[in-house]
Amino acid sequence: MDFELSSEQQMWRESVHEFAAKEVKSRARETDEHARFNWEAVGKMGPLGLLGLNVPEAYGGTGIDAVSAAIAIEELGWACGSTALAIAAHNGLACAPLALFGSEALKQRWLPRLAGGQGQLGALALTEPGAGSDLGGGVRTSAVLEGEAWIIVGQKMWTTNASIADVIVTLCRTDRDRMSLILVPTGTPGLHIGPPEKKMGLRGSPTHAVTYDEVRVPRENLVGVEGEGLAQTLAVLDGGRIGIGALAVGLAQAAFEEALQYAQARETFGEPIARRQAIQFMLADAASEIEAGRLMVYRAASLKQRGQPFTVAAAQAKLLATEMAERVTRNAIQIHGGYGYSAEFPVERIYRDARLMTIGEGTSEIQRIVIARGILGLR
Ligand SMILES: Cc1cc2nc3c(=O)[nH]c(=O)nc-3n(C[C@H](O)[C@H](O)[C@H](O)COP(=O)(O)OP(=O)(O)OC[C@H]3O[C@@H](n4cnc5c(N)ncnc54)[C@H](O)[C@@H]3O)c2cc1C
Repeated sequence: MDFELSSEQQMWRESVHEFAAKEVKSRARETDEHARFNWEAVGKMGPLGLLGLNVPEAYGGTGIDAVSAAIAIEELGWACGSTALAIAAHNGLACAPLALFGSEALKQRWLPRLAGGQGQLGALALTEPGAGSDLGGGVRTSAVLEGEAWIIVGQKMWTTNASIADVIVTLCRTDRDRMSLILVPTGTPGLHIGPPEKKMGLRGSPTHAVTYDEVRVPRENLVGVEGEGLAQTLAVLDGGRIGIGALAVGLAQAAFEEALQYAQARETFGEPIARRQAIQFMLADAASEIEAGRLMVYRAASLKQRGQPFTVAAAQAKLLATEMAERVTRNAIQIHGGYGYSAEFPVERIYRDARLMTIGEGTSEIQRIVIARGILGLR
């Protein structure tokens, strides 16, 4: 498969890179240090198309191809993990289920605002205190039809964007064995968003517990087919995993660039540490592994774009790219020596941010299960 980017894709990368360098990377440190969401940059993303990566043009989105969408998340990841995660979740987890499965009325009502017209963001709430990897067995949040309204009761955990979102697409049990996705506007009475979680990294990406205390939303807020919520969620996560893989490639690239520069400037025993083979090998491994991770992400995105099965390719890309990012960011600190352990140097933050990538949107263990099922032909 040929992965030479088209001239449009290259131009897209250059324009996102330029924006990310100016508006996102320049504020990455304070975004993390003060756990402050970068609204200044996000407010400018709508007109650039960065909030409508998964939305067709007919609903105000960019209608761009899946490789270009991955490139955008990669470039944002290069600039700032926190901001990139918020935008990846908005596009890949909130807009995607609406665009893929939403009714015409829901799409027309919500997608243009979410795609950037009015600077609104979305979230997806799947995980609960007792259910993460095992959503099918563990989800307790329930939705019951009462007349023309769904009444939702339950609790979600780790909802990225909850406090900055206008809508939360919520996975609910709608009968004993089946689940459904339901769109909940965040202003709805009975919806309580907890304080931001105190996290190891990604501190500028707000994550919250969300409680549903008899939240009432119209029947037509059902996203897709009643009872098909789990299958729809898994399809959404296939796409989301390409985004997390891309984000991990961006984080690794940023750490590698820092390490490369540092290795050429820092001298020990009379010469730059970049002259030492031990350091060169870490840099060589990083350069090679980043390229491999990037190609796997683009391959999965390209399959998605062409309408071919991409579940296994997305799981492989996420697994390889996120575990690669852990190694590369770890070694970037090693190359910095003691300075790498200091918050004065970006590699410290990038390393903390990268740690989430093997966990969110399906852990590495779950990716291996998905891949094994694919190669063994198991259900
Ligand atoms: C910063 C952050 C942001 C997040 N954002 C969101 C969000 O926006 N929306 C949302 O819904 N969720 C979100 N999550 C939740 C995330 O998706 C879950 O944490 C993740 O899916 C793992 O679930 P869990 O934490 O319940 O771990 P568990 O499922 O309890 O797993 C614990 C450990 O057991 C392993 N394990 C579990 N089952 C198996 C198995 N069958 N075989 C082998 N090993 C297994 C796991 O791999 C893991 O190592 C976020 C989490 C974080 C930390």
